[in-house]
Amino acid sequence: MKVIDHLRNANGKTLFTLEILPPLKGENIKNLFSNIDPLMEFKPPFIDVTYHREEYVYKKKDGGLLEKSTTRKRPGTVGICAAIQNHYKIDTVPHIICGGFSREETENALIDLHFLGVDNVLLLQGDAIKSEAKFVPEPDGHRYASELLEQVVKMNRGIYLDEELETAAPTGFCIGVAGYPEKHFNAPNLKTDLKYLKLKVDMGAQYVVTQMFFDNQKYFEFVDRCREAGIHVPIIPGIKPLTGKGQLTILPKTFNIDIPEALVDEAEKCKDNAAVKELGIAWCIEQSKELIKKGVPTLHFYSMGKSDPIYRIAKELF
Ligand SMILES: Cc1cc2nc3c(=O)[nH]c(=O)nc-3n(C[C@H](O)[C@H](O)[C@H](O)COP(=O)(O)OP(=O)(O)OC[C@H]3O[C@@H](n4cnc5c(N)ncnc54)[C@H](O)[C@@H]3O)c2cc1C
Repeated sequence: MKVIDHLRNANGKTLFTLEILPPLKGENIKNLFSNIDPLMEFKPPFIDVTYHREEYVYKKKDGGLLEKSTTRKRPGTVGICAAIQNHYKIDTVPHIICGGFSREETENALIDLHFLGVDNVLLLQGDAIKSEAKFVPEPDGHRYASELLEQVVKMNRGIYLDEELETAAPTGFCIGVAGYPEKHFNAPNLKTDLKYLKLKVDMGAQYVVTQMFFDNQKYFEFVDRCREAGIHVPIIPGIKPLTGKGQLTILPKTFNIDIPEALVDEAEKCKDNAAVKELGIAWCIEQSKELIKKGVPTLHFYSMGKSDPIYRIAKELF
C-alpha cells in the first residue's frame, strides 16, 4: 500500500513510522529484526530503509603501495525492504539515490522493487562519497533528485529508458522527497531551496519528509513557507533523540542543523552519555507531543540502528 494512502486512512490521527539503516555487510538480518520487533507494538504502517553508496577503501600492498578500491559497507536496501514486507506484512520505503547509479541501474533497481511488491520510494540526490568534497553524478546518472523523479514518473506511465518497449508495464510507485526546514547545505537560501522542492512536488512527488530538527518552531515555519510557496502535499516531520554528548557537534556538522541552546546547555551539564540519553528522550517526547497536537501526519523517527530510545519515546505517545 502507498504511503499517501496510509496517511489518508489515518483520518488525521498521527501515525508512528521510522527509518532504519541496512546492517553492515556481513551482519545477520536477525539482528535487524530484533531491533524492529519491539517497535511493532506501535503499529508502524511503513518503514523507510536508507541507501548507502560505495566508499573508497585503501589496502596496503607488498612494497607499501596503497591500492584503491570501492566497497559498499551497508548493501541490501532492496533485499531488506522485501524481507521486512514479508516478515512483518507492513510496507517499506526504499531510499533511491542518484549517486553511484546510472539511469539503467536505477531502472533495474526499480524493476526489482516493482516485482517485489514495493509500492513506495523516497527519491534523493544521495550523499557525496565520504572522501569527496562534493557530490559527483555518474556520467549516465542523475545530478538532482528531480531528474531521478522524472525517470520514476515516466516508469509509472509505462515509459522505460527504451521507449520502444512494446509491453512495458507501468509501475505504481508513490513518490516521496526530502525537505530541509533549516535549508539544504548547498542552497544559497531557503527560498531557492523551496523553489526546487516545489519543482519536485509539481513533477509528481506526493509527500515530503524533513531532515531532522530539534526545534519544532523550525518545522512549523518551514511548513508555512512551503504552503506560501504552493507546496500542498503532506510534510512528514523527521525526528531523532539526542543520545550522546558527541552528537552536539556531529549532528550539526553532518546534517547542517542547529541544536537549540536550551538543549545544549542541559546536555553540557550531564555527567555522562547515559544522562544525555535520558535528556534526549525527554526532549524528544516533548517535541513529539507538540507535533501531535498540531496534527502532523506521522512522527517519523530516525532510528540510526538503535531502537531502544525510540521504543521509550513511542511508549509515552502511542
Ligand atoms: C529524509 C531524508 C532521507 C535521506 N536518506 C538518504 C539516504 O538513504 N541515502 C543518502 O545517501 N542520503 C540520504 N539523505 C541525504 C540526501 O541525499 C542529501 O541531503 C543530499 O545532499 C540532498 O538530497 P536531495 O534529494 O534533497 O537533493 P536535491 O533535491 O537534488 O537538492 C540538492 C541541492 O540542489 C539544489 N537543487 C535541486 N534541484 C536543483 C536544480 N535543478 N538546479 C540547481 N539546484 C538544484 C537544492 O536546493 C539542494 O541545495 C536523506 C536526507 C533526508 C532529508
